[in-house]
Amino acid sequence: MTVEETLKSVIRDVPDFPKPGIIFKDITPIMLNPKVSEEILDHLVELYKDQHIDIIAGIESRGFLFGFPLAIRLGVPFVLIRKKGKLPYNKISHDYELEYGTSTIEMHVDAVKPGQRVLIHDDLLATGGSAAAAAHLIRKCGGEIAGFNFLVGLDFLEGKTKLKEFSNNIINLAT
Ligand code: IMP
Repeated sequence: MTVEETLKSVIRDVPDFPKPGIIFKDITPIMLNPKVSEEILDHLVELYKDQHIDIIAGIESRGFLFGFPLAIRLGVPFVLIRKKGKLPYNKISHDYELEYGTSTIEMHVDAVKPGQRVLIHDDLLATGGSAAAAAHLIRKCGGEIAGFNFLVGLDFLEGKTKLKEFSNNIINLAT
C-alpha cells in the first residue's frame, strides 16, 4: 500500500462533527497504530531530508503530533504555534479572520530567527486560514516559508490557493 492508501485506510470520517453537515476527518486512529505512525514519519523524513529545512513550526494541536517527531528525525528545532493565551514567555501574535469572527495565534519571540527556512506542518488543510496565519506570524519574525505540509488536504476547499503567496511547496500526503 502507498502512504496515501494507508492513511485513507485508518482515517475515520465522522459525520456531523463539530456541526451538522460537516464530515470531520478523525486522524486519532493513526496514533493507535505505531506501525502506521512510523510509516508516515519515515515518508515525511524522505520528503524533507534534502530540502534544507532549518526549523519546523507545528500548528496547535494536531500539528504537534507529527511535527515534533519529524523535527527530531531531521535534526532541527520545533516551534509551537498556539492559540492566544497558551504560551508562557514573550510572544508575537497574529490576528486573522474566521468564517464568523476573528482568532489570534502566538509564538515565542525567540523561536524563529531571521532568515531561517521554516516548514509549517499541520494535520489537515481545509480553507488554509490557519496555515496562512502561521505563515504571517513566521514572516513577522523574519522567517522564510520553506513550505507547508499536511497529512490530509481537503482539495475541494482550495486551501492551497491561499498558501501560494507564501510558498509553492505545499504537500499533503492524502486527500
Ligand atoms: P483551515 O484553517 O480552514 O485550513 O482548517 C484547518 C485547521 O482546522 C487545522 O488546524 C485542522 O486541525 C482543523 N480541521 C478542520 N477540519 C478538520 C477535520 O476534518 N479533521 C481534523 N482537523 C480539522
